[in-house]
Amino acid sequence: MTQDVLATFPAIEIKKDESLSHYTNTKTGGPADYVAFPKSISETKTLIEYADAQQMPLTVIGNASNLIVKDGGIRGLTLILTKMNQIHTSETKVVAEAGAALIDATKAACKASLTGLEFAAGIPGSVGGAIFMNAGAYGGEISEVVEEVTVLTADGQLKTLSNEALDFGYRHSTVQDYHDTVVSATFNLKPGEQPKIQARMDELNFLRASKQPLEWPSCGSVFKRPTGYFTGKLIHDAGLQGTRMGGAEVSKKHAGFIINVDHATATDYMDMIHHIQTVVFEKFGVHLETEVRIIGEDA
Ligand SMILES: Cc1cc2nc3c(=O)[nH]c(=O)nc-3n(C[C@H](O)[C@H](O)[C@H](O)COP(=O)(O)OP(=O)(O)OC[C@H]3O[C@@H](n4cnc5c(N)ncnc54)[C@H](O)[C@@H]3O)c2cc1C
Repeated sequence: MTQDVLATFPAIEIKKDESLSHYTNTKTGGPADYVAFPKSISETKTLIEYADAQQMPLTVIGNASNLIVKDGGIRGLTLILTKMNQIHTSETKVVAEAGAALIDATKAACKASLTGLEFAAGIPGSVGGAIFMNAGAYGGEISEVVEEVTVLTADGQLKTLSNEALDFGYRHSTVQDYHDTVVSATFNLKPGEQPKIQARMDELNFLRASKQPLEWPSCGSVFKRPTGYFTGKLIHDAGLQGTRMGGAEVSKKHAGFIINVDHATATDYMDMIHHIQTVVFEKFGVHLETEVRIIGEDA
C-alpha cells in the first residue's frame, strides 16, 4: 500500500508516517499514515476518489487551529488543504479555495473595499474550516456572509450548496453531518470604505491580542458557550486558571484556552479537558461541550 499511494501520485506532495504535530496549532498530535497536500480542486478530487475506491479512511484538515489529533494519529489518508489557497475578488464577491487562510480572505476583501468580513480578521483557520465550524467572533458569523459553497462528496462528486442548504447554527454547518469536503466558498459582501474596513480589522486584532494568549500554541476556545453562561467565567470561578497537566496549562490570560507551555501531548490536552469538565460540573452543574474537534486514535 505504501508504494501504491506514493507511486500512484508522484506529482502530489504526500508524506508517510508524518507527525501531525508539525501542522496543528497546539503542536501536538500523532502520525498520519499518509498526509497529502493537494494544490488544486482537481488534485483533491483525485485523492478523494482514490481513497473511496481503496476504502481508505479519509480525513480532511484545514489550518488545524480547532483540532486535537490524538497521540495515536490518523489511519488512512489525511488531506491538508492549505496549499489549495487561491482567492479572487469580483464586484461584491470574494471567492476563496478552502485551504486559503480566512485572514487572507479578510485582507482581500479589505483590498477590494468590501465590508462584512471584518469580524474574521484574526480567526486563524482556513476558509473550509470556517465553513465547517460556522466560525464567528465579535458579533459576526460566517453564515452571514456566505453565498454558496462547493463541496466534494465522499465519492468525489462536485456539488454546490446554497447558504440555506448549509443549515448554519452555533458552530455548526451540515458539512459536519456528511462526509463532504469543502473546496471553495463564495462570500457576498457590501461595498465599503477601505480605511474604515482596515481600522475595524486593526481594532479587533488589537482586542484579540489583549485578551487571548496568542503567544502560545493553542486551539482557541476549547469549549462551546453553554446557554446562559460564559465558559471563561465558569473556568475562572472554578479556580482552574494556571492548572497544569503535563505540558498543557489553562491560560491565565483567557480561561477558555488551554495552552501548550512545555511539550504537551494530545493526551495532556484530553486529560485537561476532562478535568475542566468534571470540576465545572461538580461546582456549577454545567456540562461544557467541546468546540474543538477531536480526531484520531489513542496512543
Ligand atoms: C488563537 C485562536 C483563536 C481563535 N479564535 C476563533 C474565533 O474568534 N472564532 C472562531 O469561530 N474560532 C476561533 N478559533 C478556532 C478556529 O480558528 C476556527 O474554528 C476555524 O474555523 C477552524 O478552521 P481550520 O481550518 O483551522 O479547521 P481545522 O482545525 O483544520 O479543522 C476543524 C474541523 O473542520 C474540518 N475541516 C477543515 N477544513 C475542512 C474542509 N475543507 N472540508 C471539510 N471539513 C473541513 C476538520 O475535519 C475538523 O473537523 C481560534 C483558534 C485559535 C487557535
